[in-house]
Amino acid sequence: MIIFCNSCIEKREARLALGMDVYPVRKDLRAQPFWVCNTCNNFIGCHPSTIKPLGRMGHTKIFCACCVRKRKVRLTLGTEVYPKYISLHSKPYWICDECNNFVGCHPNTIKPLGCIATKHLRQARAEIHGILDPIWQSGTMSRSRIYKELSNKLGWKYHTASIRNITEAKQVINILSSYRITVESIEGNFI
Ligand SMILES: [Zn+2]
Ligand SMILES: [Zn+2]
Repeated sequence: MIIFCNSCIEKREARLALGMDVYPVRKDLRAQPFWVCNTCNNFIGCHPSTIKPLGRMGHTKIFCACCVRKRKVRLTLGTEVYPKYISLHSKPYWICDECNNFVGCHPNTIKPLGCIATKHLRQARAEIHGILDPIWQSGTMSRSRIYKELSNKLGWKYHTASIRNITEAKQVINILSSYRITVESIEGNFI
């Protein structure tokens, strides 16, 4: 099969192999099929119970908040990162093999949602959504306006998945807390 290879940066002839050949450290992947680039030996896994490649062969680089630098990451599935959540088994994830942290993808694509977060950072991002979403859901401010104001105040294009560390997360929470107070005081005026 011909598959695009991220490492060779062009389409390459690929051969089918098993996890035990390409990824001997991972005993759980021994029997899984992989497509391997005949030129550079980088590889890609397959969709569940098929030999359909998940995407391009080779690695891509994403900032990893745990390693605190850009890392080569590998495309995998929910079966590996969330074995207990069957509903996530067919979803793609980019995993950092240095630290085992990972990031999900935009719906129906293999485009990463943002940088790879630690468990602690994932919790902080969830907390941010818990504060941010009710602000636009209440209609006080539009979603795009909140994102625009956050971007202006932070000095980088705001996406919750782009938050790289706890300091940035705290900064965002501080900014959002001031909005929440405004919402409450406006509501107070109407009572
Ligand atoms: Zn290659
Ligand atoms: Zn990492």
